[in-house]
Amino acid sequence: MKEEDLGHRVTQHHGESAQSTTYKFGMVIDLDKCTGCGACMVACMAENNIPFRKDDINDKLVHNYWMRVYKITNGLPFPDNEVCYIPRPCMHCEGSGHHHNTPCLSVCPATVVDYDPETGIVSQIYTRCFGCRYCMAACPYHVRVFNWWDPKWPEGMEKYLSPDVSPRMRGVVEKCSFCYHRFQRAKDKAYAEERAELREEEYQTACTQACPAGAITFGDLQNPEHEVYSLKKSPNAFRLLEHLGTNPKVYYTSSRSWVQKAADVYMGSQGKGVTHP
Ligand code: SF4
Repeated sequence: MKEEDLGHRVTQHHGESAQSTTYKFGMVIDLDKCTGCGACMVACMAENNIPFRKDDINDKLVHNYWMRVYKITNGLPFPDNEVCYIPRPCMHCEGSGHHHNTPCLSVCPATVVDYDPETGIVSQIYTRCFGCRYCMAACPYHVRVFNWWDPKWPEGMEKYLSPDVSPRMRGVVEKCSFCYHRFQRAKDKAYAEERAELREEEYQTACTQACPAGAITFGDLQNPEHEVYSLKKSPNAFRLLEHLGTNPKVYYTSSRSWVQKAADVYMGSQGKGVTHP
């Protein structure tokens, strides 16, 4: 049996008798359910204190999205044209082997990027970041954004900021954290109730809860009792740019073969790739 089939693991640290549970949190996003409404993007912004502002030149709003919904089509003319929407958070890449080649982590000169062995979550330590943006160049999924401005909200909105998430200052790179503060909150609650393990519903990301189509499922990829465990084994499941070996923890499912092919635009020895507008 493979390690990932052993379910969640209980580990002992440094010979201490106290035991702690380790998880491998991830997502499965059903692209056949996603309608492209963008509720996940809005929920992510509200939850994680992501500011927005008017563009200097026109009236468009400028954002630093952590979750972004992309639109792709099969490129065929009407009536065969099909559209697919792809919500894209950080993939929380595990890399191969011992997570040493999570792309953004391996290039950071300031040890800003952290891989949490307890959860498998890749996070940022903003106070260490000096904005070199190597991580943005290294990330093959373009999930990282650079803060060009000090965060500002329309007057009064600052009262609605999440108290658990620090606003980021100008000059740092930021990205999705799988709402890590929610994990900490759930862990504190479990600790108070003298439980070592979290229940599936206790830790969910904001985008998962906001999706009206139920397209996003979040949980422990190693735990057979969590829904993501079986969903990721679906014959229709795939990951983005799988051939790069980044080992993402975000899976997608779609019954449409053109969508599955578009996820891994790999020329290979055939010299043929899938293109999409
Ligand atoms: Fe790092 Fe990009 Fe992978 Fe996220 S998706 S862990 S930012 S390389």
